[in-house]
Amino acid sequence: MDGTFNENDLSRVVEADRAHIWHHLIQHKPFESTDPRIIVEGKGIHVWDQKGKEHLDCVSGGVWTVNVGYGRERIAKAVYNQLVKMNYFAGSAGSIPGAMFAERLIAKMPGLSRVYYMNSGSEANEKAFKMVRQIAHKRYGGKKHKILYRDRDYHGTTIGCLSAGGQDERNAQYGPFAPGFVRVPHCLEYRRHEQDGAPVENYGEWAADQIEEVILREGPETVGALCLEPVTAGGGVITPPEGYWQRVQEICKKYDILLHIDEVVCGVGRTGTWFGYQQYGIQPDMVTMAKGVASGYAAIACLVTTEEVFDMFKDDASDPMNYFRDISTFGGCTAGPAAALENLAIIEEENLLDNTNAMGARLMDNLAALADKHAVIGDVRGKGLFCGAELVKDRETREAVDEALVQKVVADCMGQGVIIGATNRSVPGKNNTLCFSPALIATADNIDQMTDAVDQALTRVFG
Ligand code: PMP
Repeated sequence: MDGTFNENDLSRVVEADRAHIWHHLIQHKPFESTDPRIIVEGKGIHVWDQKGKEHLDCVSGGVWTVNVGYGRERIAKAVYNQLVKMNYFAGSAGSIPGAMFAERLIAKMPGLSRVYYMNSGSEANEKAFKMVRQIAHKRYGGKKHKILYRDRDYHGTTIGCLSAGGQDERNAQYGPFAPGFVRVPHCLEYRRHEQDGAPVENYGEWAADQIEEVILREGPETVGALCLEPVTAGGGVITPPEGYWQRVQEICKKYDILLHIDEVVCGVGRTGTWFGYQQYGIQPDMVTMAKGVASGYAAIACLVTTEEVFDMFKDDASDPMNYFRDISTFGGCTAGPAAALENLAIIEEENLLDNTNAMGARLMDNLAALADKHAVIGDVRGKGLFCGAELVKDRETREAVDEALVQKVVADCMGQGVIIGATNRSVPGKNNTLCFSPALIATADNIDQMTDAVDQALTRVFG
């Protein structure tokens, strides 16, 4: 390796990748004997790998990110124009695209009014946690500092976020964790039989009441915030049960607990509304978002708060310590908001929320038809273009299928040129939920191709 290679010589790229890249989310030993997959090009909902093979991307860039699809020249041009004019300035200064995007975003989020920029979902959540801690110090002598998070939810990769991480298998080996994070039970109705005392009727309210029990156990005066995903993503595409969110909101109000919604996956159209929480008629105090904000054309994440939260950090200007003592170096990159402005305009101009609802309904219908045919599908769940199919050995016991078989289904689809996801753990430690989250531009043909591929794969793997 001499470091000089023609980027068009893809065998050299593969060699360089194999020699030097530490890939995310993979055990490298078995990977050494196969070629790494290099994604070379993307257009619309399709991507091409180094062998020139075309794939229908049903996971929006792997992890629910490329909401408006690939190859959007208008986003690239807007970023280019912004970068040659003013690429970066950090600290207390603002920027033109930063201000303009904040105004456009806030117009979609009634009741919220302040946007804080950074560059990843984990960072956004960390900053929300820090705000909660600072409010606890300012207002409550440090007491109201605990942050509740939910079993199965994921909020990011840092030690702080893993401390609020509800997927034990992801956390194992990274402790010790930060104190002051307390877990509440999940709300996956399909698996209520695994929860002691869970009723058949009114499960949603019961699941929310479990949160109240934790608050009472911990002492409401010690609990500062509740952080939840609107629809749990990596934890198994968990759509909340009927009645859940209304009750959660009531509980937060009752005990003066800030409601922090993690929209890193659901945000910016994925579920068919601008934000996932808007499906459930609730009013959060803090919202974090990342992936779909600029569809991966630039790294940008936002923490959006109410004016009330913002005001708590400026109420005593004579105290030099009385402001949010935080910075994000790359929160000063203007590429992010410049890309985000175009991304948002595309969703509006192309009516992608309507498309998400129509195509999401089609996807759910197709998955329901697959469940009629394949007994291995125990449950299908979803909101908008964010759907999952949970695979079980037996519909009675609901025992998860072996992960190796799920991976065979994914590999079979890949062989058919269809990329689906299966990093979704409805059952601790088991990736047994297939995930479908194509770009919001998906057509009926794309949806049908996706589910046809799964149909064939399930037949080959499970008979
Ligand atoms: N929250 C949720 C719900 C996520 O799914 C993720 C990432 N998959 C994160 C936070 C962390 O985002 P990032 O990887 O950008 O740090």
